[in-house]
Amino acid sequence: MRILLLLAIGLLLFIIFRNLYRQIKNERQIEQTEKMVRCEQCGLHLLEQEAIQKNQHYFCTTEHLEAYQHQK
Ligand SMILES: [Zn+2]
Repeated sequence: MRILLLLAIGLLLFIIFRNLYRQIKNERQIEQTEKMVRCEQCGLHLLEQEAIQKNQHYFCTTEHLEAYQHQK
């Protein structure tokens, strides 16, 4: 019975570590895919996914998008 218990603990640890490893790997992949862009209006750096994109230009807010368009 003791061997079975050890095997069960070993299996549990294996599953936990495997899940931890996958989480770390996934987080690294997310970091790599995150791209920084610059707001054309104020020069603020922000993540591409958070930025507002318009005609290959990026903006931090819709206000800055509109302000940039009014300048032209
Ligand atoms: Zn801005």
